[in-house]
Amino acid sequence: MSPSSPAGSSSSSIPFSNTLLALPDGPIAYDAADLRSHTVSYIGGYPTFPALSSAEKAPDTIKCGVCHEAIPLLAQVYCPPEDGENDRTVYVWACPRTKCQRRDGSVRAYRASARNEEYVRDVEEKRKQREKDEAEERERARKNPFSQMPDSNTNGSTLFGGGQSLFGGPPPSSTPPTNPFSTSSESQPPDLSSLSISKSNTTHAPPLPAYQPAQYLSTIDEYLPPPDEMDVDVDDKDETPAQAAEWRNERWEQLLPEYVDEVFERFVHRLENAEGGSGQVLRYELNGVPLPYSSTSKLYRQLFPEAPTSLKPSDENNQEVDLSKLYAPKDIPPCPRCGAKRVFELQLVPSLISALQPDSLSTTGRPAKKGKKNQTEEERKKELARLAGGLGDEGGLGEMEWGTVLVFGCSADCTGVGEEWVAVEWEATLSNSSA
Ligand SMILES: [Zn+2]
Ligand SMILES: [Zn+2]
Repeated sequence: MSPSSPAGSSSSSIPFSNTLLALPDGPIAYDAADLRSHTVSYIGGYPTFPALSSAEKAPDTIKCGVCHEAIPLLAQVYCPPEDGENDRTVYVWACPRTKCQRRDGSVRAYRASARNEEYVRDVEEKRKQREKDEAEERERARKNPFSQMPDSNTNGSTLFGGGQSLFGGPPPSSTPPTNPFSTSSESQPPDLSSLSISKSNTTHAPPLPAYQPAQYLSTIDEYLPPPDEMDVDVDDKDETPAQAAEWRNERWEQLLPEYVDEVFERFVHRLENAEGGSGQVLRYELNGVPLPYSSTSKLYRQLFPEAPTSLKPSDENNQEVDLSKLYAPKDIPPCPRCGAKRVFELQLVPSLISALQPDSLSTTGRPAKKGKKNQTEEERKKELARLAGGLGDEGGLGEMEWGTVLVFGCSADCTGVGEEWVAVEWEATLSNSSA
């Protein structure tokens, strides 16, 4: 038999992780209905919160915890748990002001979960079907006590698995996709005065700052090549330089040769090696294991308290340390709404910073006019400050400086809207690499 016979390869050994990778997938027209739906995933733009019960109120603006100014949305992620009954949407904002970088409270995340009657019906139907199947099995077993129970129970146990319906894909049922919340007032601005009694979606609007245009997110499963191919030194530039260059901006080129940290190397490697995923801006895996950015961060010690100082193979077994086995997060505050445990949900990675540059900030709801040629740095800053009026007039906008942003969300998916727990590892620099 030929050694390359495809029939001999088993699909079970394909190294897919359970992580979904989200990649930018084209701009969204400023007047598109998708920008007023909480069931669409995108970066930039304005957030849309689902219709809430009358006792609930969507936040009308999100402010930086440091400078207390309104801050722009980085991402809205629609992520209903499989076999759940809710729409679930996670939102992340960050302050673009230079003076707020590296400070607690400048990055914030909210989650909105709303009962989706369609999902409720699905769950109910699945439950009925399961009960019916089980009753039939019992009946068969009664008639023939020697028959075997089949391996049932493949339903309903994968609360956080799969993810086929994540990020705004078609709903899991076979009914035509309908969005009960986006049928009316497509072209009207949201009425902010009626928020507290609102039974419809709430979308933020100008003059709040936003990165424009918003861009769709599409997702792929993370696929990693076999370890022997992946286990190459980061500094070994022999591997597909074109692919690497696609993802790696100047920021990384500057950092990599100087900043040697095994955790950071793994972080970069994991992102660069994902097949078709080198442009990923966001990683999603509810109840999964986050990918740490720096061994020197406080957060790393909080999430991987038992991690050894070196991750290189030890003498005995020649195995690299598997960080995911050492994931033991401590002191993650529980959900303040229902008391359930918070679990890792998603993480932003630095190519998102390249996708959301300060000069795309706008307060008009439309893309900012990019600076013309021959414009001095000073002129460009003034224009930016003018465009982003609400962002202050000091021209103090800059690139965000986080290395990764982690969001931990309620594991019980309690309904309503509220803030979730955010942890940030700041961008590695030479000055703090030894701190
Ligand atoms: Zn700020
Ligand atoms: Zn909760």
